[in-house]
Amino acid sequence: MTISELMNDCEEMQLLPKMNEVWRSSLKWQPSEGQQQQLQKLYVEILKGNERFNLTRITERSDFWEKHLWDSIAGLVYLDLAKLVEQKKPLRAIDIGTGAGFPGIPVAIFSQAIEVTLLDSIRKKITFLEDLINNLHLNNIKTLTGRAEDLGQDKRYRQSYDLALVRAVGRATVAAEYSLPLLKIGGLAILYRGHWQNFTTPLTHSTRNCIYLRKIIPTSDRFPRKIGVPTQKPL
Ligand code: SAM
Repeated sequence: MTISELMNDCEEMQLLPKMNEVWRSSLKWQPSEGQQQQLQKLYVEILKGNERFNLTRITERSDFWEKHLWDSIAGLVYLDLAKLVEQKKPLRAIDIGTGAGFPGIPVAIFSQAIEVTLLDSIRKKITFLEDLINNLHLNNIKTLTGRAEDLGQDKRYRQSYDLALVRAVGRATVAAEYSLPLLKIGGLAILYRGHWQNFTTPLTHSTRNCIYLRKIIPTSDRFPRKIGVPTQKPL
């Protein structure tokens, strides 16, 4: 085998499955060729980043596709997706505790109509994500390093977002305390866990849960409480 054949094989090993039919049948949506390329680049960048930072244990191709890409976008399935994609003024979304960029990056790739802020308390994760966003030319993503407890009490961010996405960050009441202060009235928090709304994933048929919280009145100034209190004394 020549070196270039070997390299081709290696590259192929990092090729994500396209899954067009699965996207269509499960979410009634399928990524364009450009979106497929961005999802593919995202995968390669995360694999590279994993060599330096401990970003994710989900690295096998179909696992990554299902547990990171499909799962991130599936959380939006109960929104009016067609309306979201068409609307002129971008929706402002914040992904609280984004880690390696999930669910925020796939959501930003899914729709240019959503302007996503990726928030994490760990600076090195945000530094990695900033490079990744530049490499992928994703111009509808911003980043913030900080704690949800601080941002929720900061006038620049409090009551400013239409959507709050929270996946795998504390129990549901903690995620609610992080997200509701950041939402505008009428905004929606999507908590990617809980037991109220079940999905079945299309490949491994595992159960996923989402809780949808619509903000209908202003959040009391008492919330969120100081750093650490939401997790130590959950509501
Ligand atoms: N959301 C990602 C996912 O589903 O793959 C990452 C989940 S990871 C288990 C939790 C992340 O939340 C970590 O990167 C951590 O630094 C961040 N985090 C935890 N508490 C936070 C807080 N109060 N404010 C901001 N980020 C927080």
